[in-house]
Parts: sequence; structure tokens; C-alpha cells
Amino acid sequence: MPAPSRAPNLERVAESSESNGAIADALEELGDLYELDGAIIHRVLAYRSAAKAVREASVSVAALARAGRATELPGIGKTLQEKIQALIETGSIPATEKLRAKFPPGLIEITLLPGIGAKRARLLHSELGVDSPQALREAALSQRLRGVRGLGPKLEASVLAALDEDSARQEVRRAPRILLPKAIEIGEALIAGLIDRGPPGTHVQLAGSARRQADSVKDLDLVATTDEPAVLARRLAELQEIEQVHSAGEAGARARTHSGVNVDLRIGRPELLGNLLQHFTGSGEHNVALREAAVRAGLHVSEYGLLDDATGVTHECATEEQVYELLGLAYIEPELRENRGELEAARLPAGAAAGRARRRAGAPAELPRLIQAGDIRGDLHSHTVASDGHNTITEMALAARERGYEYLAITDHSASHGFGNDVSPEQLRRQIALVREADAQVEGIELLAGSEVNILPDGSLDYEDELLGELDWLIASVHTSFRMGEQAMTERMITAIEHPLVDAIGHPTGRKIEQRPPYAIDLDAVFAAAARTGTMLEINANPDRRDLSDVHARAAARAGALIVIDSDAHRTATLQNMRWGIATARRAWLTKQDVANTRPWPELARLGKRSKRAPAGLGEQAHK
Ligand SMILES: [Zn+2]
Ligand SMILES: [Zn+2]
Repeated sequence: MPAPSRAPNLERVAESSESNGAIADALEELGDLYELDGAIIHRVLAYRSAAKAVREASVSVAALARAGRATELPGIGKTLQEKIQALIETGSIPATEKLRAKFPPGLIEITLLPGIGAKRARLLHSELGVDSPQALREAALSQRLRGVRGLGPKLEASVLAALDEDSARQEVRRAPRILLPKAIEIGEALIAGLIDRGPPGTHVQLAGSARRQADSVKDLDLVATTDEPAVLARRLAELQEIEQVHSAGEAGARARTHSGVNVDLRIGRPELLGNLLQHFTGSGEHNVALREAAVRAGLHVSEYGLLDDATGVTHECATEEQVYELLGLAYIEPELRENRGELEAARLPAGAAAGRARRRAGAPAELPRLIQAGDIRGDLHSHTVASDGHNTITEMALAARERGYEYLAITDHSASHGFGNDVSPEQLRRQIALVREADAQVEGIELLAGSEVNILPDGSLDYEDELLGELDWLIASVHTSFRMGEQAMTERMITAIEHPLVDAIGHPTGRKIEQRPPYAIDLDAVFAAAARTGTMLEINANPDRRDLSDVHARAAARAGALIVIDSDAHRTATLQNMRWGIATARRAWLTKQDVANTRPWPELARLGKRSKRAPAGLGEQAHK
């Protein structure tokens, strides 16, 4: 199939070198260079505050600058708009290039050290030829600073202290949070390596926030059991993924991977596996609450077992179930261990008192039976070459069938670019026909003709209703104009929710994990409107979105909104992103019933808003 006018991938702008972070870094650098060059302080500060505004912007500043609208950000005037535009068009800012040629890059690092500043850095450069932190350290150690007029032995000492502190800070900065898929990938490689090289009978598994399926992970926690702990701890250093081992002993090892991830390996006897896992899975908040509850029952919980105050006996638990059972609790799934009511809900019925305590805590009566991957029957958000996807309808259909799905909605973007409503209805008509054609050809899976339509700033959609009415499935999403103020954004969203043909809202908050916070919006009002109208809300399973988040999805479901979990796949391989949406749904306490696409399509087609449409089920009648 030919690829008609490919839309730029709006959703990925923030990941490229055009990310707000990259633009902010460039402005910060230019500010530092101006300072080195002796510019007036106001100018320097202007660049620093502009960098901050860019970093905190909830929209793509590159997209804004391209539209000539970066000046809408606080502290950004015409000059800065031009510089940002130059950066995204040519990859650099001319003023930066000029100053970079004048000052060695290491000199900027020196100006940033506490107690040095631009003036002294320039002096050190001109008098001693110091051009990097390393050169500065050598000059201070050989007591050459005191030879420069105005500098003395005291500065040599404070420079050395500042340099040490700075390298410690850099160490921390080198280990940022990583997204869950990467964490699991690294963790699984380490586990395979340890099992392969460890003593016979070695058991290793993920713990920590990766096991709880959190959005992102700071350190990787692994729990292992073996009868030869010291041997296993030494093996960690032999793995190809490991850059450096900080410590290794009987209790475990700490190391860092080449990818900059800190790894904590805890090792114990097999009899203690349950205690170790429970302790090192966390979360910290869950464990604090658990310990407090245990103390009230005369027990002390730790990775070494449960100590009974009365008898002095320490109970060792080979499974986590035993740990929770000794505390009078049902087993709590790792995804729920965030101290969000799970302990109250897990309390085993030991009479009326437990029930009363539970009601007081406002927690549900019992732990939910969490949704599982196998419950999903279809995917309702996917892209093909018709917009910014990489595979054809048929390729996507075959891959979805391979995953065991009963249905797949093809929902290419409506707009050919991010601004305005420049869309071709003809293109969508053609696409509907192509989906129907592929549906007739591919056996064993139902293809739904859908669209991911832009919600315009006034809440309207960018196709006419008559055309939208021909679709089996319609998602509406916000892709532009993120910074419009909470009230306007909420009204915009609710207008789309109230549209009689909109089945679901895609990635409802627009957040990008570790990159971009949700846009300002009154989610309680959005959830109420969704529940009232029967419009479903998406958990977009793209691992850098996971939007709705766990907390928001839980609130939405409690408000009575139906949830759909979608991969938003842009190629066959990313259909498997469904996994991260399931993870979020589980962290949101969702059951199979809370999620619409655990149902067969004919049943789903009668749900929500569709229940009010006559005759019931567009898709049901439209084909097959
Ligand atoms: Zn989207
Ligand atoms: Zn999409």
C-alpha cells in the first residue's frame, strides 16, 4: 500500500535532541559562555531563567518555536525565539559556536564550581592556562594558585573540596531513573547471567520497584538464594553488563552496569526467600506500614525473618505468602504494595473488628482480583503507514492475531500535521475501505475501522460527524496546544467526551514519564463526565506514557468510568507494549470487569455510550 503524506511523529518530539531538556541545556550553556565572556549579569540570568521555563514547559518548545510561538513562554522574547529556532533548524546556535571557539569547554565546568565563578575562571585560564577541572586540580595540588595575584592557599583548599564534591554529584547524575522496560531488560540479562554462572541451585529474581512494575526505576534490586553466597556475589563482577563492582560479600553485592544503572544484589539462604523478597520488593511506604501493623501484633518484620516478641522465635519464610499469613494478611500482589489501602484490604476476616477498621480506612472490602495479560481480547489503538506507523493494515492484523486477539482497531491519526484541522476526509474514506478489505482477507481476527482524531483547542474534532459516523471505533486525543490553562483544557476535554461519536479518550493527561508532566486539567471533572456519558478512558500502554497513570486510572474507575488498555502500537513489534498498560492497570487495582477490552467485540460494542445508540453496535453489523 502506498504511504500517503506521512505525518510527522508528533508524539516523539520530546524524545529527540529537540526535547525541552536539550533546548534548555543549550540555553544554559550559552548563558554560561556569556558569563565567561564578561557579559552583564542580567543577560546571563535571562538565559538561565529562559532555560528553566523551557525545561518546565508542558508542551514541545521545538514545536512552539517552529510555529513562531516560543514567545508565549515566560521570559522568552524575540531574540530567544530566534535562537531556539536556529537550534532546531541547524542543530546549533551561532552565538554559542562563536564563544565555544573562544573558551575551552572545560572552563565552563570550572565557572560552575562553588567559589570560583566566571571572573576567577578567566583569570585562571589567562594566567595559568587552566582549561579543565583536571588542570585546576593539578594546579591546586602543586600550589600554583597562590602565585596568582588575588588568589591564595585558602582558595587551593576550597577548590579541591569543591572538585571532590562535584565529582560525587556527577556520579549521582550519571544514574538517572530508567523506564520500566529497560530496567526489566537489564534485570533479566543479569538474572540469566547469574543463574548461568552461579553455584547449582541458585535462584535469582527481580525485586524492588521493577517487580512492582513502577513507571520508572532508580536502582535495580535483585534477590538471590544459594548455599554459597560469597561465590555468587563474586560472579556478578564477571557479567558482561557490569562496569564496576562497589562491594561484594556474603550478604550480596553492589555494582553498576555499563548503562549506568546501580544494581543491588541481596543473597540469602533458600529458607529465607520469602522474607528477602518481601523486604526488598518494598515499597518503603508499604514496609513501614507493615512493620507498624506487625509491632502491634507483637512481631518484628525484617529480611531476616519474623521475630515473635513473646516467644523469642524467629519465623523464616520460604514464600511471601507465609510472611503475610503470619501477619494475618492475605497475599498482596507486588503492584499493590504502595501503602494505598492494600494492608487494610488484605486483613483476613478475624471478626467484625477487621471489617470496621477497613471501613474506617475507606478501603475496599477486599483485595481486587487483578486483571491479567490473558484477559485482553483486543487492541483498540494502533497506527499504520497511513499515518506515522511503520506497518500495513494486514501486517498489523496478522501480528495482532498472532497475539491471540479477537479484534484490532486501526486508528491512524486524523491530522497530517500538528496544528489546525488540515485533514483529508477522502483519505479517511479510503482508509475505511482498506480496513474493510483487509478484514475480509485476514481470517481469525476482526478489524475495526477507526481513527485517532485530534481534539482541537475548542473541543471539536477535525472530521465532520457524518464521516466519523462511518467508523467502528473512535478515539479522540489532545496532541497540540497543551498550555491553555486548567479551565480551558478541562472544557476542551469534556466537550470531546460529550461528543456522541467519541468512544474513548486517548492518553488523557498527555504526560511523558520522566519528561513531561500532565497538562493542567481537572481530572475529577473529566472522570465524572466520562462516567456520565459512557465515554471510555484509555490507559495508553506506550511505556513512556502509561497514561492514565496508576493513581489516575484508579480514580477514574472509582468514579465509574470504563477503562480501555491500548498499545498505541506504531509497528507490529510494539503491540506487545500492552504489557505495560496491564502493569499500570494492576497498580490501579483494576479487575477484568473494569477494562472494556477484556470483552468480545460484540459485547464491547454495546457498552458505554454505544448502549444509547440505535441500532446497537455499529461494528457488529458493519461486517462479518
Ligand atoms: Zn496519540
Ligand atoms: Zn496513537
